[in-house]
Amino acid sequence: MVAFDFEGASRSRCAVEGERAFAILITPEHAPPINPSPWYAFRYRSRGDQNVTVRLKYLGARHRYAPVMTAGGTQTPVPLSVSVDEDGSAATLILPPGEGIVSAQELIGPEQSQADLSRWAEMTGTRGLVLGRSHEGRPIEAVRFGDAAAPRLIVLLGRQHPPEVTGAIAMQSFVDAFADRFAADGDLGTRYQVLVVPMVNPDGVANGNWRANSGARDLNRDWGAFSQPETRAIKRWLDGLPGSITPVAMIDFHSTGRNLFYVQGDEASKAGRQFLANWLEGKESAFPDYSFTIEPRNANPGSGTAKNWFFETYRIPAFTYEVADDVNRTGTRNAAETLARSLIPALEGQ
Ligand SMILES: [Zn+2]
Repeated sequence: MVAFDFEGASRSRCAVEGERAFAILITPEHAPPINPSPWYAFRYRSRGDQNVTVRLKYLGARHRYAPVMTAGGTQTPVPLSVSVDEDGSAATLILPPGEGIVSAQELIGPEQSQADLSRWAEMTGTRGLVLGRSHEGRPIEAVRFGDAAAPRLIVLLGRQHPPEVTGAIAMQSFVDAFADRFAADGDLGTRYQVLVVPMVNPDGVANGNWRANSGARDLNRDWGAFSQPETRAIKRWLDGLPGSITPVAMIDFHSTGRNLFYVQGDEASKAGRQFLANWLEGKESAFPDYSFTIEPRNANPGSGTAKNWFFETYRIPAFTYEVADDVNRTGTRNAAETLARSLIPALEGQ
């Protein structure tokens, strides 16, 4: 039995090809062109003691994500045998007998995000916020820590793109370390406040989308137009800030083929260039199992990315924190913690 009846499952079709053989058609949420992030997630159950074969067939994409399998309610991944067709259009998984959940990356859904938000709120003695509602009515949840009147605002965004789980893993550790710093140093909260929105696209995540929200839009192309309730909710919150509070940095967490930071090009202000030099330059190979590159890109007018909108609106460092799909998770977490701890010192010229 193969089923897609849980949050985060892909909306795929499954064909029975034999007693222990299934084919799953992995399709995007809307017609191409779409970023090739072919998300899949399903559960299975089998009787007897023989393996089960599942063939993943991709429509308009190539196999990208190595499967993660969890069984028996544990989050510890079970190693799986995978063979990918030469042209990448399909992959065959051999699953052990019994039952399990197989997904393209670890399942980090709205429930996990809510648990993270509660933890950060508790650590910093604050409460969660609901900034608005998604197309399907899911809350766009956030936490703000530091004093609500602190003049400098740091904005941390995540999960605009549903399958980009390694970015979410980095963000969890990043915010844990950030919240820990604020909890330990009350003075920090008088100078800085932080808005954390870990799941900008909860509908996309819950529905197993490759890219879009439930309005069939790429939210990271909607900053500027603000045609979608998810981006609009964050914009409205920013617009409601008193004039005494100014954003000073924005980091937006994503995943791609390798670890990199998209940063401002030569358009960056002097302070922005100094921040980059303090925070990232020279550290490209400094972290065990987390080397990265720095990719300067000037804002393309009307690109609609959060990076460009925050830069163009506030002239602040606005970086995209891209984590490789197949990254070492421990290395990612450790690097994110260190980078979180050094962000405010880097803003202050250290
Ligand atoms: Zn992305």
